[in-house]
Amino acid sequence: MRIIKKIVSWARIKSPWILHFNTGACNACDIEIIAALTPRYDLERFGVVLKGTPRHADILVCSGPVTKKIEDRLVRIYEQMPEPKFVVAVGTCACSGGVFDGCYNVAAGINQVIPVSAYIPGCPASPKAIIDGVVKLLASLEEKENKGDVSIFPSPER
Ligand code: SF4
Repeated sequence: MRIIKKIVSWARIKSPWILHFNTGACNACDIEIIAALTPRYDLERFGVVLKGTPRHADILVCSGPVTKKIEDRLVRIYEQMPEPKFVVAVGTCACSGGVFDGCYNVAAGINQVIPVSAYIPGCPASPKAIIDGVVKLLASLEEKENKGDVSIFPSPER
């Protein structure tokens, strides 16, 4: 059982599945995320695979401030992801609300609604910064897993 856990942990760190969700971005950050995932920057070479459902995702990549209209959906998507799950905030708006902070229709930055594991600032965040952020998150997870601070082993319902 121990060896199976180790193999699953290794596989999840080496090939995390991600879900991209626009929580209210102007779309510039989204274009950069797509550029990072597609062949020019090729995030897939690090084993990162884009998925279409939160039930299959390990990492939720969010762009934009959280608008009041999307807040409930963001929480629902986060709740549908299996444990352990991680959230990456891409762009200044996702990190803090950015230029939209304080707007009547904006709730806040991502971390005011769900827990965030990594912040990638920039307006928009460049593909290189996005790749750097994801790789650093994976490296820190691997380090924590080795120390026993975090378990990458899936929950039984997965
Ligand atoms: S950080 Fe800049 S580019 Fe990204 S969603 Fe906000 S305004 Fe748009």
